[in-house]
Amino acid sequence: MSERVAFLGLGIMGSRMAANLARAGFELTVWNRTEAKAQAFSAEHPDVKLARTPAQAAAGSDIVVTMVVDGDQVREVLLGEDGAATAARPGTLCIDCSTVGPMAARSIGEALSARRIELVDAPVTGSSPKAQDGTLTIMAGGSDQAFQRARPVLEAMGRLIVHAGPLGDGQIVKVINNAVAATNAAVVGEALLVGARAGVDLDALTEVMGAGSGASAMLELKARAMREHDYTTLFKLEHMLKDVRLCLEQGQAAGAPFQFAALTREILTAAMGRGHGDDDFAALIEVLEAAAGTKL
Ligand code: NAP
Repeated sequence: MSERVAFLGLGIMGSRMAANLARAGFELTVWNRTEAKAQAFSAEHPDVKLARTPAQAAAGSDIVVTMVVDGDQVREVLLGEDGAATAARPGTLCIDCSTVGPMAARSIGEALSARRIELVDAPVTGSSPKAQDGTLTIMAGGSDQAFQRARPVLEAMGRLIVHAGPLGDGQIVKVINNAVAATNAAVVGEALLVGARAGVDLDALTEVMGAGSGASAMLELKARAMREHDYTTLFKLEHMLKDVRLCLEQGQAAGAPFQFAALTREILTAAMGRGHGDDDFAALIEVLEAAAGTKL
């Protein structure tokens, strides 16, 4: 019999990931801070139970999955008043899929272990289309035993599941990956601006880059959005800034510079200042356009 799952956080990613757990046949209870979203979810998935608090969701579950934004929020929904840990049985497994950085993951894991609840950090990459079709890449940190227990849940939401190491290591891998992705996106934006300023056909430029050594996931995913100034949110710019910042904190703690990511942090910060925090991070093109003195 599969384990009963509580899913906390039905945002862009969480709603799609929870839908895949329901589709895979898990007995599911969901909770979301804004109740209307949870109600909309349950209207689409009549077999899914609705909880009024994280504690209520955890009370009847064996595994608790969290997908909120940052470490403070994960701490609140797991360990706060009405948090999942107040009602979860000893032996419950928590799987946090939010991107919170390794330090938060480890300290939350320590607080949970005092209640005989184990934590696996399992941040994801792939954005909403891959969350939708269950093909996320998931990088997990935690004990071998906890990872094996989490695996069926993770496999229902992702395609490539990697056990990166002990608790927190999934987070380290994730924030490094995202710092590279954000930096790639900024580089693609500047490349497009050079092309535009030079008067070259941007269709030709992107076609050749896509087939050659200039190819990247960011070219594929964000070049069109930047050219059309279409910032429909797949991944909020504010969240990308959080991830780059978390990566830089790790680099600083480890004594390893990441100069390009530091530059990307400043570009994202400037985009935040222009009011693009809730937009897709493709909106960083606005900052690059201002610097180049031209629009795509
Ligand atoms: P989102 O759409 O903004 O959803 C955030 C979720 O967190 C919502 O359910 C929100 O509830 C909840 N939340 C916010 N503040 C809360 C609080 N104080 N207490 C309880 N719940 C709270 O974000 P998302 O895109 O799904 O991202 C979720 C996580 O996945 C982030 O860590 C992000 O960095 C990471 N991630 C995102 C992507 C992507 O492409 N979008 C890809 C990989 C990883 P409400 O509905 O009440 O606001």
